[in-house]
Amino acid sequence: MDLIIRDACILQERELRTVDIGIQGATIAAISSTLEADAPELKAAGCLVIPGMIETHIHLDKTCILDRCRIEEGTTVAEAVRETAAAKRNFTVEDVYARGKRTLERCIAQGTMHMRTHVELDPGIGMIGFEAVEQLARDYAWAMDVELCVFPQEGLTNNPGTEELLIEGLRRGARAIGAVPYFDTDPRAQIDRIFAIARDFDAEIDMHLDLAETTQGMQIEYVCRKTEEFGWGGRVAVGHATQMSLLPPERFSAIAAKLASAGVAVTILPSTDLHLMGRSHDHAVPRGVVPAEPLRRAGVICSISTNNVLNPFTPYGDGSLIRMANLYANVCHVSRPADLAGCLDMITDAAARLMRLEDYGIAVGGSADLVCLDASNPAEAIAALAQPLWGIKRGHASFTRPRPQLHPRGN
Ligand SMILES: [Zn+2]
Repeated sequence: MDLIIRDACILQERELRTVDIGIQGATIAAISSTLEADAPELKAAGCLVIPGMIETHIHLDKTCILDRCRIEEGTTVAEAVRETAAAKRNFTVEDVYARGKRTLERCIAQGTMHMRTHVELDPGIGMIGFEAVEQLARDYAWAMDVELCVFPQEGLTNNPGTEELLIEGLRRGARAIGAVPYFDTDPRAQIDRIFAIARDFDAEIDMHLDLAETTQGMQIEYVCRKTEEFGWGGRVAVGHATQMSLLPPERFSAIAAKLASAGVAVTILPSTDLHLMGRSHDHAVPRGVVPAEPLRRAGVICSISTNNVLNPFTPYGDGSLIRMANLYANVCHVSRPADLAGCLDMITDAAARLMRLEDYGIAVGGSADLVCLDASNPAEAIAALAQPLWGIKRGHASFTRPRPQLHPRGN
């Protein structure tokens, strides 16, 4: 063994067990209640150890631009897009790299080890964002597996030249393609093109969908239909789906059943959705955050993700998925221990299923990706915003965060 983690509390087949984990090279070589071996040790001391958190939906290219945007309307979706598009005109590869690096490093220190980042491609920005994020993915591979999802933030069918760039991004290795159907005059035309391109390139689909304050013009059922038509079940995710949060239970349940049978996953982006929704109300403001529990009970894969950090879409952010899951739990009235534990599932195992990660989880023979949380169980980790204490990526330390120390007088 090259390293032994002592007394790690891990979740195995829904049971918590305290084990020693032996690591050889980049791989977990042994898991047992007491591992007889001689190697350098790291003490988990009964804390919860998880296989690293997963950000299924983030935007590294437009992060940290708040200081160059004017926020006057208090951020409506329209203002967020307008201000970001204006800031984007001055983006260079170096600038995107420097800002993306700040957020990526925060995510690493918060215990995230996989991410799917959306990258905007259109004739204005060209491949600038793509090149910077591709470089970040290479430079930070020691701590994070970064997957690129190319997408047309400023429209596809309304914005000639964009489709060619999306195709170039897929040719250059992006594994996923995204969409923003509500930015084209004919949303379904965009959805149709995205499915066709995904089939041509055997790509995953991860759409921004149904981000609005009424239930008019929802496309989620259409996306389910297209998923079935293309046989793309298990390879399609939709982010936001805030319109679903406004539906009465019967209609909600009917759509949940369709999502489950079509194999369409849902990503909840609590910080952005809370920030952007409810703007047309001056009292009794709706939250606009779709509840995951009824979706999960219906068999839908759900993840919780950060989306934006410090930009007009979300003027907050520290890259903490634990904080995002806690925010979600608070907003959606999640309190049963099993449901709180479900919130951790949505930033770990369920998120891995959404991204179809093959080598994820704490298992012998698997990648030695481990994060220790200052908590004794999953529900506590979410409820008490457990701090990640250290991370091991492919057998090597990727971060440490010492516990705070108190200094009582006289000591
Ligand atoms: Zn997004």
